[in-house]
Amino acid sequence: MSESVDGAVLVLNAGSSSLKYQLVHPESAEVIADGVAERIGDHDGSITHSQGGDESTETLELPDHTAAIRRMMELFTSGGIDLAHAGLSAVGHRVVHGGRTFYWPTLIDDHVISEIKRISSLAPLHNPANLTGIEAARELLPRVPSVAVFDTAFFHGLPDAAATYAIDRGVAKLHAIRRYGFHGTSHQYVSEQVPPILGQDPATVNQIVLHLGNGASASAISGGEPIDTSMGMTPLEGLVMGTRSGDIDPGVVLHLHRVAKLGAEQIDTLLNKNSGLKGLCGDNDFRSVTERIGRGDTSARLAYDVYIHRLRRYIGAYMIDLGRVDAITFTAGVGENAAGVRADALAGLENYGIAIDPERNAVHRKDARQISTDDSTVRVLVVPTNEELAIARQAVEVVARSEPESGSGT
Ligand code: AMP
Repeated sequence: MSESVDGAVLVLNAGSSSLKYQLVHPESAEVIADGVAERIGDHDGSITHSQGGDESTETLELPDHTAAIRRMMELFTSGGIDLAHAGLSAVGHRVVHGGRTFYWPTLIDDHVISEIKRISSLAPLHNPANLTGIEAARELLPRVPSVAVFDTAFFHGLPDAAATYAIDRGVAKLHAIRRYGFHGTSHQYVSEQVPPILGQDPATVNQIVLHLGNGASASAISGGEPIDTSMGMTPLEGLVMGTRSGDIDPGVVLHLHRVAKLGAEQIDTLLNKNSGLKGLCGDNDFRSVTERIGRGDTSARLAYDVYIHRLRRYIGAYMIDLGRVDAITFTAGVGENAAGVRADALAGLENYGIAIDPERNAVHRKDARQISTDDSTVRVLVVPTNEELAIARQAVEVVARSEPESGSGT
């Protein structure tokens, strides 16, 4: 079976206790297999693997990411694919923070690893986890080139006015404090799908992309270049998310420290893990939130209203940022599936040339589609994101560029 795998890319997304993976053909977008290992580091780890229409889940102890990747490789072997000898063209790693060092997908070597380590202080929850995945893959698949694809890269050229926090410039410079933006792979992938749908030259398109998943972010993009985005130095800024607060008065953080006597770690946990929809109503899954609203639950209603209020505020800001908007696009779990969120986010904006067609919006489909009326000046679209495919394609490009000589360009 290995010949069908020739040229495929193994995409790895290593979190602190999880590892998501997908084996995908970068050209055809065919997913050969995928899976997720969870609770890595606990006794009761688990791994779910899907290949050739079969899905299996097993519970087992996965002491670290190397163990998870080793088990993943065994599962591939049971399905007839020997990853180490299958002719993979690359392993593509999602790396959350590229700091000011990495603007492009980058072939990984020892120097790149030490640079990613160096900037880990900017993303202490994410980059070290990403690195464990990189190190494990390099150990277990030493002959396959590894490429890092950075979540911040797409936003590296944000205009200074959008990227700069209004704090002491010396302090900001010393500690690399600026707005980096995240979910860049998704914003880039989705925004590139839009011009052909509009039938417009990409260089002329002004668009807003709303990535609404468990994490959520918005971006304003003009001629393919982001001019603003809602996430900042970390993925905590901006929209209300499943478990993250999004924008908050920094004075609240000081108050939590001085008056509530919470330490940095506790505040970090509060704002990253126990806020957003979960903090407001106890549930971070949008389906449960909407279902509870249907039953008259007032805390779920408030959570939803706060979520929509923040989203509309960003849409308004980006309409002004862009001046003229050709398209507003919804993507990710909530954006692709929750018709009610799309309708509420853009309700009452007919005077701004934005009109959703309720029937088109209600249709549930997996492909890219228009949900605005034919006479809406701004086209409203739903475009499924595919970060794994984007990572795979970028990884292959980097490997092709680096041959015959490999380098670690940033
Ligand atoms: P993601 O992070 O892109 O996987 O998105 C996860 C979020 O999408 C969760 O909050 C899910 O509840 C939400 N989601 C997935 N399917 C639906 C659906 N059919 N309706 C509403 N929300 C959904």
